[in-house]
Amino acid sequence: MNADMQEILLEAEEPPSSNPNWNDWRWQLRNAITKISKLHKAFPFDTDKLAVLDKVASKYPLAITPYYFSLIDRKNPNDPIMMQCFPSPEEENLYFHIQDDPLGEEKDSVITGLVHRYPDRALITLTDICPVYCRHCTRKREWCKGKWVRSARELEVIYRYLLLHEEIRDVIISGGDPLILSTGKLEAVLYNLRTIKHIEIIRIGTRCPVVLPQRIDIELVSMLKKYRPIWLNTHFNHPREITGESASACDRILCAGIPVNNQSVLLKGINDSTEVMTKLCQGLLKIGVRPYYLFQCDPVSGTGHLRTPIEKGLEIIKGMRGFTSGLAVPTFVIDGLEGQGKIPLQPDYFLSHEKDCVILKGYKGEIFRYYNPRG
Ligand code: SF4
Repeated sequence: MNADMQEILLEAEEPPSSNPNWNDWRWQLRNAITKISKLHKAFPFDTDKLAVLDKVASKYPLAITPYYFSLIDRKNPNDPIMMQCFPSPEEENLYFHIQDDPLGEEKDSVITGLVHRYPDRALITLTDICPVYCRHCTRKREWCKGKWVRSARELEVIYRYLLLHEEIRDVIISGGDPLILSTGKLEAVLYNLRTIKHIEIIRIGTRCPVVLPQRIDIELVSMLKKYRPIWLNTHFNHPREITGESASACDRILCAGIPVNNQSVLLKGINDSTEVMTKLCQGLLKIGVRPYYLFQCDPVSGTGHLRTPIEKGLEIIKGMRGFTSGLAVPTFVIDGLEGQGKIPLQPDYFLSHEKDCVILKGYKGEIFRYYNPRG
């Protein structure tokens, strides 16, 4: 049960060091803002919008942890943290080519909770619950089904499928956010996966380091450490999400021998500039996190207002490549529709073939010939 909002806000506005509950991830979850009326009290907006936003939230719910809420710059009406978590009337807009499940995940779900699309890897969706509901989420369709966590019976069927499919060497645990589960429940899943000998690596997709860094506690990382090799993919979208708390959470994971990669989504008005993306990726390198993918925002219902033209992503990569460390430059990808897989895109550095040469363009724009050895 959520506590009284006034109390939440008072606590949320206190510096974390003076709030005895601040570092308790369960307190953060219990006190997440999940109602428009409470959001209105916390962040007064035009009362006329209440009914509209209530309607949006009845379809696409909201959840904002006190920690993530505390990162909002209340003086900025276009604050990038706020835009990622506050429901918007624009989520109701209809856009061309927008669908609930454009990637065809339901079609590729071989059994409930398991997507087996690629030959050697499979994805388990453990829950649809997240500490913060990102307005750009690809799995927004799941939110409409109520809150669910995979049952023991569903998990048994998943383990049996994985056991029978020896070609699967890489399992991704995702959601929702799988770290919303208790450490004990999560350990049971990892333990069962590790009894399947052909599963070489386990990946965990979680936004907890960004929106609920308190969840990355010593108990959790000590448990995860036992089931390595594990790779953790997280989801920072803006440099202001890199805080002392999120940096420490990533550090705890890294110190357990678990590499951390970042998958950003390109979002209109939030991170769609070379300057912001460069600052984000340089900041990630400083905390030991590798900028891995920059995703074109999928054409998912309720996210059309946050999508950018594809050219914007190419322009950003062009503005980064060569101008900063290669390690800081993520791969810009489109997730192909209906399970076509990830399609990497990059600016045109390769111009043409010419006899025994290729014609290339350097990062500063100079065009030159490069001898092409014969095979
Ligand atoms: S954390 Fe991931 S799964 Fe959860 S709402 Fe955000 S984007 Fe969606």
